[in-house]
Amino acid sequence: MAEPNNADEFAAIVTSLKRHLEGRRRAGIRHVPRGNPLPAKIETVNEASLLVGTVDDMFSDYTEGMQAKTLDELRAAIGDCQRCKLCSGRTHIVFGVGNPRAKLMFVGEGPGRDEDLQGEPFVGRAGQLLTDIITKGIGINREDVYICNVVKCRPPENRNPEPDEVAACEPFLKKQIELVHPDIIVGLGKFAVQTLLQSKVPITKLRGNWHSYHGIKLMPTFHPAYLLRNPADKKMVWEDIKKVIKELRGENT
Ligand code: URA
Repeated sequence: MAEPNNADEFAAIVTSLKRHLEGRRRAGIRHVPRGNPLPAKIETVNEASLLVGTVDDMFSDYTEGMQAKTLDELRAAIGDCQRCKLCSGRTHIVFGVGNPRAKLMFVGEGPGRDEDLQGEPFVGRAGQLLTDIITKGIGINREDVYICNVVKCRPPENRNPEPDEVAACEPFLKKQIELVHPDIIVGLGKFAVQTLLQSKVPITKLRGNWHSYHGIKLMPTFHPAYLLRNPADKKMVWEDIKKVIKELRGENT
């Protein structure tokens, strides 16, 4: 194959930069952060490095994160994230907490007020209920599981995260799941489950049945915040959690 000449390479760089900036604009970012220099040398220019505006473009803000070997490295790569507009309203990035080698992982929607203030997922009222599910229901410590959210910054007034915000943050969730590599993921609520499964099927239909997230068993269930408003549905969550317990104990094989 012929080597790209300088003009081809220049055109490819401009195209990639244009796509990258368009991606940032779609994510609501109107400025270019300082302190994020281009790599000194761009090794190759090919189609793969021209993907539209996220993890793989040559101006990507994701390269370092996607190369992380540990959760600490991933958190460091996220830095003082400005990749979507949620950055402007947050107090803390709420990355995730728990055992980096957990067999069981919980994924929620996004931080609420308490989580934003404390920098830890599920620490408010809904969080207390989740902790009870883990400790009293499953019978393990909160520190034994891993807990995180689809988006790492609090949406204003706890609204649902918007598609561009999910798109900006999802690579980090995927990487967290890859690094923890749990046996089981419990998806908490419609938003997290529909994001993980790339599905529009209602949570009422998805919950209680096993699904697969890239080969990892995924159990969708209702969100603890929903249970605070609808305590009668706690029994359905308990049914879902009993299936998780059986699977953890290897009783389903
Ligand atoms: N709701 C979520 O989805 N996540 C949290 O961390 C807290 C409340």
